[in-house]
Amino acid sequence: MANPNQKISITEIFGPTINGEGDVVGELTVFVRTGGCTYKCVWCDSLHAVLPEFANTWKKHTTEELVEAVEKQSGGNSMNITLSGGNPAIQPFSDFIDVMQKKGYTFTMETQGDILKEWFRKLDTLVVSPKPPSSLMTTDYDVLALVLKSNRNVSIKVVIMNEEDYEYAIELHLRFPLQEFFISVGNPNPPVVSDKLNYGSGEFDRGEIVNHLEYLINKVANDDRWLRRPRIIPQVHTLLWGNKGGV
Ligand code: SF4
Repeated sequence: MANPNQKISITEIFGPTINGEGDVVGELTVFVRTGGCTYKCVWCDSLHAVLPEFANTWKKHTTEELVEAVEKQSGGNSMNITLSGGNPAIQPFSDFIDVMQKKGYTFTMETQGDILKEWFRKLDTLVVSPKPPSSLMTTDYDVLALVLKSNRNVSIKVVIMNEEDYEYAIELHLRFPLQEFFISVGNPNPPVVSDKLNYGSGEFDRGEIVNHLEYLINKVANDDRWLRRPRIIPQVHTLLWGNKGGV
């Protein structure tokens, strides 16, 4: 029985759409974007789910309310649900996962790996996305190591903006060489939603992303430090829809 006192902070629910990157790229999913994050990456493309000035737009849901909202979005068809953010790891999702899995839904979660929760083991897929130096965040490798062991289907995904980020990705791979590894090309011009924190021009440039993708493919192909080459993919949703929200 779900605890009615537990409230989950939600920024937006949208879909069905496709998951844009990592191990679940192309999978049809309903996105549940939570409100609040333990990081503040300078190039975050979802600052409306991070900055306190947007907190009054986040809606608190009980488990029952969230079940109802997601079923409305999916048309009652069981499918994948992506928990994203913000940092979904800070929300009390355990009961929600139980209820929806009984109805046939599956769960993917993406988190930066700075917080460990017991309920991570229930997820069908866990994408851990530690943030590289260009984000201006720092990685707690001890917590990250525990998060990587918290589920049987875990992969690492690193967004690359520059050379320093690439070196960070290699270092991560060498620390966790057995882990499935994805490299994603970052968006150098994410949406600008706040004059307090913005990165790039805010003008989406598909060509710049494609060029960087090609550059990374060649770089990885010629770099023998990889014990097992990572998969290199664009953020498909960004390539398709640019800086448009809610897709
Ligand atoms: S961890 Fe993700 S949601 Fe949080 S600030 Fe960084 S990019 Fe944005």
